[in-house]
Amino acid sequence: MNIHEYQAKAVLRAFAAPVSQGQAAFTPDEAEAAAKSLPGPLYVVKSQIHAGGRGKGKFKEASAGAAGGVRLARSVAEVKAFAKEMLGATLVTVQTGPAGKQVNRLYIEDGSDIDKELYLSMLVDRSAARIAFVVSTEGGVNIEDVAHHTPEKIVSFAIDPATGIMPHHGRTAAQALGLKGDLAKQCEALTAKLYAAFVAKDMAMLEINPLVVTKQGQLKVLDAKVSFDDNALYRHADIIALRDESEEDAKEIEASKYDLNYVTLDGSIGCMVNGAGLAMATMDIIKLYGESPANFLDVGGGATKEKVTAAFKIITADPNVKGILVNIFGGIMRCDIIAEGVIAAVREVGLKVPLVVRLEGTNVELGKKIINESGLNVISADDLDDAAQKVVSAVKGS
Ligand code: GDP
Ligand code: MG
Repeated sequence: MNIHEYQAKAVLRAFAAPVSQGQAAFTPDEAEAAAKSLPGPLYVVKSQIHAGGRGKGKFKEASAGAAGGVRLARSVAEVKAFAKEMLGATLVTVQTGPAGKQVNRLYIEDGSDIDKELYLSMLVDRSAARIAFVVSTEGGVNIEDVAHHTPEKIVSFAIDPATGIMPHHGRTAAQALGLKGDLAKQCEALTAKLYAAFVAKDMAMLEINPLVVTKQGQLKVLDAKVSFDDNALYRHADIIALRDESEEDAKEIEASKYDLNYVTLDGSIGCMVNGAGLAMATMDIIKLYGESPANFLDVGGGATKEKVTAAFKIITADPNVKGILVNIFGGIMRCDIIAEGVIAAVREVGLKVPLVVRLEGTNVELGKKIINESGLNVISADDLDDAAQKVVSAVKGS
């Protein structure tokens, strides 16, 4: 699960990490009130969306002005004017894709005088089975570019969970970031606080870009992007409360209500499959025959008619879906149940694209009979190869 920058900063502030004062705002009036509560004279108006690259992003609407999604304001009035322009407008960044994301919240922050922009992130390094730090003197810019062109400027080290974070880790980070004297001490303290927050809140990733050195000689968390391990959310009610569903894929939210394993993809063939392995194989074979899947969907081993109906509705509601492939192996799941679910769903939501159904396993004959006698325009297939070819040619023909 991802959260907004201002929420991430509140989490880090609770662990005594150095962040600027600030307030979230949902309206221009709230933005004005937030600015009035800050010392000034420099304010930062920051779009809150679940995507990075906001500073260099561009709004789609001309009314939002030519500046990006992170703006420096020099007065309370200017904060309010920016808020009016930005709220409700659609911000396009390298991470949002061309569709962009609507800005519904802002974060109004006390502006910092920046001397240097650094990079610091933490993640779970699976191969080392440890939490790792990644630091670089090249902050503020695209870290992917740094990794590509000057990988020697990125330093990484992992923490042994048996010892936890030690002072020498902090010194390693400080040295890699070129920090000396008091700044090195601040860096040591900061790494310990970040590690404590990361472990306590079951984070999956924490990225601070930039971590800045201010002209006053303070190390500060200027941007924060945090994601949490979904499997550990059950023990963090405070984190679950930060969820902003408007930032998530509506289809994935709907699927999660029915316990469906669903992930949106950018192809044209909607897939309804049971079992993750079969779902992967189905996506592969669609690719093999020259099309791409619009989703990954595993309805699970013990799917009910209701679950199948829900899955079908989610697939057909996607305008990118130009054809549907239902590929079910009836093991625990019976093919006749699937057939009934598909038919019930088609009757309810209609069918505007070709539908290919391949059933195999328990009660397959009955399942096929139900589909054939339904009077619906369903293309039936015998095996995986046949099914993939049929759906690809139906999509290409239409
Ligand atoms: P991102 O573009 O989504 O990564 O948003 P950031 O929070 O990283 O902000 C983008 C850039 O805005 C930073 O790299 C800074 O250069 C600038 N910026 C953000 N906050 C401040 C601030 O308090 N003072 C100044 N001078 N610049 C800031
Ligand atoms: Mg940033």
